Amino acid sequence: MAVFSNPFFSNHEEVVFVQDASVGLKAIIAIHNTQLGPALGGLRLWPYASEEEALTDVLRLSRGMTYKAAISGLNLGGGKSVIIGSPAIKSEALFRSFGRFLQGLGGRYITAEDVNTNVDDIEFIYQETGYAVGIHPEHGGSGDPSPYTAQGVFHGLRAALEKTFGQADWAKRSFAIEGVGNVGFHLARLLRQEKAKVFVTDIDPDRVQRAVDQFGCEAVSGTAIYDLKVDVFAPCALGSSINPETLPRLKCRIVGGSANNQLATPECGSELDRRGILYTPDYALNAGGLINVALEIEGYHRELAERRVASIYDIIRRIFTFAEKQGLPTWQAADKIAEQRLAALGPAHLRYLEQGRPWHIHRGRAGH
Ligand code: NAD
Repeated sequence: MAVFSNPFFSNHEEVVFVQDASVGLKAIIAIHNTQLGPALGGLRLWPYASEEEALTDVLRLSRGMTYKAAISGLNLGGGKSVIIGSPAIKSEALFRSFGRFLQGLGGRYITAEDVNTNVDDIEFIYQETGYAVGIHPEHGGSGDPSPYTAQGVFHGLRAALEKTFGQADWAKRSFAIEGVGNVGFHLARLLRQEKAKVFVTDIDPDRVQRAVDQFGCEAVSGTAIYDLKVDVFAPCALGSSINPETLPRLKCRIVGGSANNQLATPECGSELDRRGILYTPDYALNAGGLINVALEIEGYHRELAERRVASIYDIIRRIFTFAEKQGLPTWQAADKIAEQRLAALGPAHLRYLEQGRPWHIHRGRAGH
C-alpha cells in the first residue's frame, strides 16, 4: 500500500500503523502537523472496505485537524486515528491496547471521540495514557463533545444567515439536516428552539423518529434531502456529501454542517461559489468539539468553553470577509487564513520535542 504517494498524503509528519491481534486491533494514527503544538484529533472506528480506504480517511482527517486548530486559534497540531473494524469489535481490551500505543508516542498525538467512539471508550484509553481528552467530567474531563460541536455550528450558521439574508431571523428559515446522530440531533434541537423549520434524514430510521418526536422535525426519506428547497443544507453525516452528483440537485442558499470533509473535492467548493451557494467551511464551522476538549489541557471550565465556542461566529465572519476581499471561494479563504497563522507562528514542535514530557494536561474539577 502506497503511503507517501497516496493522493491525500500532504507532508504528514508521521503515520503509524499499529496492531494487536490478541484484541483484534488494527489501527492507523496520522500526525499531520505539530507546528502549533501536539496533534489532537479523534479516534474513528469504521468497517473500512480496505486498508487503503482507512489510510485515505486518516490522512484527510488529520490534515483537516491541522487547519481546524489553526483557524480556531488553538495551540495544537493536527492528527487523527482510525481503528479498522465494525463497532462489534469494541472491548475494554481493544481500547486499552490502543492506549498503550498512544503512550508510546509520548504526547505527539492526543486522542478523543469521533464516529463510533464515545466517552466510555476514551475512558478505557485513559486508563493506559494521559494523552486522551473528552474523558468523563468525573475525571476532570469535558465529556461528550457533540453538544459543543452543534453549538459551534449554530453560531457559525448565524454568521452565514446574516451574510445571506441580512439577519438570522431563525423562525423564517428552513434547514435540511443530513444525519441526526450525535451532532445533528443537538443541532436540530437548537434550531427548533429558535422555531426554524427543520427537515431531517438518516440511514437509521430510529434516529429520524427521535428528532421528529422530540423536536417536531419533518422526516425526509433518503437522498430526497438534496432536492429540498431550503435556506440551509447541513451535512452532519459522513464526508463527501457535496459531490458532482449531489451538487446540481441542491436548491439551498447555504451549505454548513458538522461533517468533516463535506466537499468531495475542493472543486466542489468552487462550484458552490459559482452557483451562488454560500459554503461555510467545515473545519471552521465544526470546531466546537475541538475547542471544548482542548480546554482539558489547561483545566476544563464549562463557561469558558461556551464562550470560546461562540467565537466560531467571528471566525466564520472573518472567512467571509477575507473571501470577498480576495475574490476567493470560502473554502480557499479558510485555508489561507489557517496557513497564514501556521506560517506566522513558525515551527513549535522542535521546542516541545526537546523536552522529555512535552506537555501536561491539567485535569481540574472545579470548572464543571
Ligand atoms: P454520529 O455517528 O453520531 O452521526 C452520524 C449520523 O449520520 C448517524 O446517525 C448515521 O446513521 C447517519 N448517516 C450515516 N451515513 C448517512 C447517510 N448516507 N445519509 C444519512 N445519514 C447518514 O456522528 P457525529 O458524532 O454526530 O458526527 C457527525 C459528523 O460530524 C461526522 O462527520 C464527524 O466527523 C463530524 N464531527 C463530529 C464532531 C463531534 O463532536 N461529534 C466534531 C466535529 C466533527
